[in-house]
Amino acid sequence: TSISSEVLKEQLKKTFGFSQFRGEQEAIIRNTIDGRNSFVLMPTGAGKSLCYQLPAIVMPGTAIVISPLIALMKNQVDQMLAFGINAQFLNSSLSRAEINRVKAEVISGSVKLLYIAPESLNKQENLNFLQQANISFVAIDEAHCISEWGHDFRPEYRKIRNIIESIDAKLPIIALTATATPKVQQDIQKTLNLEDATVFKSSFNRKNLYYEIRSKKDIDKQLIRYIKSHTGKAGIIYCLSRKRVEEVSELLGVNGIKALPYHAGLDPQIRMSNQEAFLNEEVEVMVATIAFGMGIDKPDVRFVIHYDAPKSLEGYYQETGRAGRDGLDGTCILFYTYDDILKLDKFNKDKAVSEKENAKILLSEMVYYANLGVCRRKQLLSYFGEHMADNCGFCDNCMHPTATYKAEQEVSLVLEA
Ligand code: ADP
Ligand code: MG
Repeated sequence: TSISSEVLKEQLKKTFGFSQFRGEQEAIIRNTIDGRNSFVLMPTGAGKSLCYQLPAIVMPGTAIVISPLIALMKNQVDQMLAFGINAQFLNSSLSRAEINRVKAEVISGSVKLLYIAPESLNKQENLNFLQQANISFVAIDEAHCISEWGHDFRPEYRKIRNIIESIDAKLPIIALTATATPKVQQDIQKTLNLEDATVFKSSFNRKNLYYEIRSKKDIDKQLIRYIKSHTGKAGIIYCLSRKRVEEVSELLGVNGIKALPYHAGLDPQIRMSNQEAFLNEEVEVMVATIAFGMGIDKPDVRFVIHYDAPKSLEGYYQETGRAGRDGLDGTCILFYTYDDILKLDKFNKDKAVSEKENAKILLSEMVYYANLGVCRRKQLLSYFGEHMADNCGFCDNCMHPTATYKAEQEVSLVLEA
């Protein structure tokens, strides 16, 4: 197949309304169309979805998109349908009748993208069905779910490669992730047997995001003041526990801020409708555990606030990445106290020794990050193996240098505890 640059650009304009590809999008799309495997590493908000959505539209047949979350599939399917492209999903939320309808549409050839959860992919009846369908290629979104070193490990992801091979070993594969750590990258490539894939890696620097650490003292007052001085702006507040999510969401509510909770303990129906209320701008603030946000595309999130310290810098970076997907400024505030680190460390006490050690290392990296007076962006990027020559000029340490080096003692405490 030879599809010209003009045709791709035309499709980009016609379906998505964009006049230009971002970064390496076009080369990535071409790689799939030409039948090669791709491994795409780009930060959150860079525009990875388009790298499989567009080839799916121009290639004959149905593209399979493996995706870890029902909410994420729904978000993308709704978007594609709104663009006039037939996209469907297969997951546990569908009734038998709905499953049959989706399958019939795929066999008829009208579906361009079929989103599937790895659990559903595993079922023999679905395998039989996919073997009969005309599949164009396979996209594995959020591919870091395959790695135990990542922050969202899904055991089912480990079986993906074998399943794809039993559908058709010659199908081009494109794996995508915003994971920035080299260790997870290697793990993904090895497990998916993608050593031969063309690797597309862009910088993980999110220039439009402002990073700031604040003391947790008077956090509720600080939080309310911040949100009230940004009325009409969308934001996410990440809390560690479900209980805290409920408390904070209530606190904001009584202070006249439109906020809703999101965590895995809520009824799936309520979770879905809260997410939708946030996406549709009926509420401004989503108070959530980290169960919220992976792959969800809300372009105009203006702030991401961490009410509690996260377990790792990797997770922190993914969560903050949900701000400013539209390229406009986003503010990322982490409320930090060493007590949170000790709490997190306690959660790990029943884990196996090696796991516990790993968790401690991740925590001590967090402690350093929170305490050092060095440019935050420099620290974050160097954690992900990227060297920045100059200070960024757009973080608290660059703009309001006050912090001093005091992490050493806290780190030794974490490691001993
Ligand atoms: P990722 O999966 O990499 O986190 P998404 O695929 O969700 O990012 O895309 C983030 C945002 O970028 C979306 O709002 C999307 O519409 C937008 N986008 C993607 N490609 C382009 C482009 N070529 N021009 C303008 N906006 C784009
Ligand atoms: Mg994505």
